[in-house]
Amino acid sequence: MSSHDNVSAYLNAYPDAEGSYGAYGGVDYPDELRPELLALAEAHKRARNMPEFRRELHRARTYFQGRATPVHHLANLSAKIGGAAIFVKREDLNHTGAHKLNHCVGFALLARHMGKRKLIAETGAGQHGVALATAAAYFDLECEVHIGEVDFVKARSNVNRMNVLGAKVVVAAHGQSALKEASDSAFEAYATQHKDALYAIGSAIGPHPFPMIVRDFQAVVGHEAREQFLAMNDGTLPDHVVACVAGGSNAMGIFSGFLDDDNVSLHGIEPLGRSAKPGEHAATLTFGKPGALHGARCIVLQDSEGKPSRVTSVASGLVYPGVGPEICMLHDMGRVSFTAVDDNEAIKAFYRLSRAEGIIPALESAHAIAYAMRLATSLDPSRRILVNLSGRGDKDVDFVVDNSGKWSGM
Ligand SMILES: *Cc1c(COP(=O)(O)O)cnc(C)c1O
Repeated sequence: MSSHDNVSAYLNAYPDAEGSYGAYGGVDYPDELRPELLALAEAHKRARNMPEFRRELHRARTYFQGRATPVHHLANLSAKIGGAAIFVKREDLNHTGAHKLNHCVGFALLARHMGKRKLIAETGAGQHGVALATAAAYFDLECEVHIGEVDFVKARSNVNRMNVLGAKVVVAAHGQSALKEASDSAFEAYATQHKDALYAIGSAIGPHPFPMIVRDFQAVVGHEAREQFLAMNDGTLPDHVVACVAGGSNAMGIFSGFLDDDNVSLHGIEPLGRSAKPGEHAATLTFGKPGALHGARCIVLQDSEGKPSRVTSVASGLVYPGVGPEICMLHDMGRVSFTAVDDNEAIKAFYRLSRAEGIIPALESAHAIAYAMRLATSLDPSRRILVNLSGRGDKDVDFVVDNSGKWSGM
């Protein structure tokens, strides 16, 4: 945490005392966990102001995670495209290869300070499960990760990584046996074990205080990026900041550094998947409606019966039928604008960045890169775009190559 988070008017104003972000957020959850969630919010607030906690967090970030990650000017790609200069915040260089470890390390340290010995979470494609198992090992905590049976089979190598890291993997085999079932199963485990365990959610979603805690631990991305960008651009801020959005953790992380800077435009990029037809994308803010998901009010992609829709994207980390409450509020305020990028455009960007710069992006991050490339061509060369490169693409390489016949124009 840098000095910047003491002066951000925005970050001090949201959420309100009820954990709401305007019309969104709050706690839409059975009463049994309410006292525990209140205690967690208090513990987080205390920890944030405790010099010892901040020192330990800083130590883990520096020596374990390898922070600060650099900001890098994509000189080759920018020159090839023409127009504005594109910069990336290299969260792909964060230990384990993505931004998720930022809030997992935070949750693990918070668990230690609350006297808990265990972390519980859900995972979809396994990325969050691996990051949490990593943080748990570092802080000598037990770790229990719930995963749907379908994902358990698909995400085999991540399941193996969790096992190697010493986590207990619990398979949820009911309903569609996917992320929602894993999440229900993990929350049930938390409800019965909360004396000993802390729930460490996978994104800036869920009931208060989870969206706030995830944002606060991810904000290091935006605070670092702001200082680094100013230092390398003669004290000038970027004109545009771009991030992909599923639940909103990497987006809230980088946006946190710029929310008070009215001249900086913020862009959230959603997955348009195969098409704009229901079930073929996961573009929640483009096509969704107000509802409730994972214990909070937010925008949800819904079918004709009002149930969460089936969602699709080539980037498994973007497959989620909701979006975190704070992102929903920033959308309604007009502070963040949203664009949807489809599978094909993301795959093109995946290759363009790899070949022009020697950086293979995660397919999730490739959505943000694709939009930045689109935006750059429409802008003057004096303009600057900063993209949160949320993760590395090693996990996606085999899939992209094996399915190369599917993408048009490759
Ligand atoms: C999980 C993931 C995302 C999407 O999650 P957010 O919470 O919206 O950031 C994006 N990029 C990568 C690399 C991921 O692993």
